[in-house]
Amino acid sequence: MQATGGGRLHLGNLEGALRPWVKLQDSGEWDMFCFVADWHALTKVGDSLTDIADAARNVAIDYLAAGLDPELTAIFKQSDVKEHAELHLLLSMITPIGWVERVPTFKEKRDTVKDNQQQLSYGFLGYPVLQSADILIYRANAVPVGKDQAAHLEISREIARRFNRIVDQEVFPVPEALISEFSGELMGLDARKMSKSYGNAIYISDSEKQTQKAINSAFTTPSKLHITDPGVPEGCAVCSLRRVYDPVTYETQWDECRSGVRGCGQSKKETAEFVNSSLAPIRARRAELMADVSYVDKVLASGADRARAAASDTMRIVRKALKISAA
Ligand code: AMP
Repeated sequence: MQATGGGRLHLGNLEGALRPWVKLQDSGEWDMFCFVADWHALTKVGDSLTDIADAARNVAIDYLAAGLDPELTAIFKQSDVKEHAELHLLLSMITPIGWVERVPTFKEKRDTVKDNQQQLSYGFLGYPVLQSADILIYRANAVPVGKDQAAHLEISREIARRFNRIVDQEVFPVPEALISEFSGELMGLDARKMSKSYGNAIYISDSEKQTQKAINSAFTTPSKLHITDPGVPEGCAVCSLRRVYDPVTYETQWDECRSGVRGCGQSKKETAEFVNSSLAPIRARRAELMADVSYVDKVLASGADRARAAASDTMRIVRKALKISAA
């Protein structure tokens, strides 16, 4: 995940990415590499620099607090493994420009900055190529992605195929998308997708009080002014959080909301309790890590050593395949 916005991860990141990663890790079936995308964060800086190193450490703290285990998973910063950059450069030589220009995020940004093309960087255009290097450098067989993100992997699969064709060798496995069990998107406080950029997020690092306050201010059914007015749980941010954090009994709350037996105040209070109790162990672990950041830095350093060993093996094969080096 990117080290942007101070590096604080929200509940969407937790449910849509971190918890599924931890499950994969704990299954023991995968050798996993989880990095903090600090170079990628530079595509967002525009004219003002932010403290990316600090943000990257915060992301790592959330990774560890959520249950990624440095004994099982290599946890590191992208910028600590320079091989990502070398592979990005080499892949950029074989990637047709039309492929990156067609990527929806690039097209959207190009349209929004129409009058200020200076804001459109060469690195932003090349983002999917760096992302492909991030994956292919580990000759990954699979990449965990959210349901709506399988398409993002397509360009990496195309680049792997094209590279293999050019060098006439199967250097890179074509990575498969491992679709996360978490179906769809976690709703934010305003009932849109929870996102750092919408200001509608609850953060892992928020306190119980902040979480309660945020949920108290969340969007519910606008026409439900009194307890007896019928609510529409499907479009309500509170009910949506309730379904995720109380999967066993949420239906009763939804039914009572619909039939006007229950008011939004009660639903908000209880939902905040479910969210807070689910986050309690993660937040406790987070507090321990915050009190010992030198441990986090050590984890990142040893994760980078492990990643670098794998990445440098790949680069030896790649350089030879491209006939840049003989050995
Ligand atoms: P982002 O910070 O938007 O780049 O998201 C990083 C990862 O978190 C994505 O790969 C998604 O899998 C996950 N994610 C972000 N927002 C949500 C959300 N609202 N619901 C579910 N998953 C999310």
